Amino acid sequence: MSGLKPIFLEPVLQEKLWGGDRLGTQFGYAIPSSHTGECWAISAHPSGDCRVKNPEYAGKTLGDLWRERRDLFGNVGGDVFPLLIKIIDARDDLSIQVHPDDAYARTHESGALGKTECWYVLDCDEGASIIIGHNAGSPEQLREMVEQGRWPELLRQVPIRKGDFFQIDPGCLHAIKGGTLILETQQSSDVTYRFYDYGRLENGKPRTLHIEQSLAVTQAPFRPHAIHRETVREGGAQVTRLVACPYYTVYRVEVDGLWERDWNRPFVNVSVIGGQGVLDGQEIRTGDHLLLPAGYGKMTIEGSVELICSHL
Ligand code: ZN
Repeated sequence: MSGLKPIFLEPVLQEKLWGGDRLGTQFGYAIPSSHTGECWAISAHPSGDCRVKNPEYAGKTLGDLWRERRDLFGNVGGDVFPLLIKIIDARDDLSIQVHPDDAYARTHESGALGKTECWYVLDCDEGASIIIGHNAGSPEQLREMVEQGRWPELLRQVPIRKGDFFQIDPGCLHAIKGGTLILETQQSSDVTYRFYDYGRLENGKPRTLHIEQSLAVTQAPFRPHAIHRETVREGGAQVTRLVACPYYTVYRVEVDGLWERDWNRPFVNVSVIGGQGVLDGQEIRTGDHLLLPAGYGKMTIEGSVELICSHL
């Protein structure tokens, strides 16, 4: 150990019409209501910048550390902390959406980042599903099916189970459906085009749709992103790499003994999704989110604990 401590973060809870209460019942967060949809667990985004719990950084947010202590993040470049990690509790269906890539966002969204995201299914109801992709054979057919409102036929519905993992590339139409609890790792961006909202009303009015932008960025025909999980045994842990893409690499780790690793990365995000253990003398339990700073050195975790870890 280098003397640097893990940086523990206070999640930001966000109410949503489609949200539920599982962020309270399953993760122990003080939820503001039984319509709590999102826990922004590791975030420096202005819409939900996490407070740092460590006394040595009292009063600081992750965004403050990013601006003032870039050394903790290996001095990587960029105006904004590049990743955003959320837990999403969808009691009801979310709208169908699509994100642009960096190039489209740069031109059409005044320099914003595009968005690549991925979902790890923490839990779901029996028979739950999500929407990933569509069944149109070409951009022309996509437009035709959208204009004719043939949504049930168009949307590609995928049954899900606990532990499933999906990578959502820009241009991939997607939606989380009700009864699903997921952990999302994404580029820290807010550029979302809402394609379809099931004709629902919010406060008596339909929410804004972005049909033309959605058609412009949606890939047709849809090509699924194949997931190749690679699992290795590392001492007292089963380490599975879920995805490695240009923006992030994500792992699921099941520790059932003693696990040591020197990540040797600018920084590593760690979310505790089950169990409890001890990380270099500090207790960690379900619902904790932390960041290992640059130069942390060898990390040691002991216990029976399930983690999602990610780095650039
Ligand atoms: Zn999305």
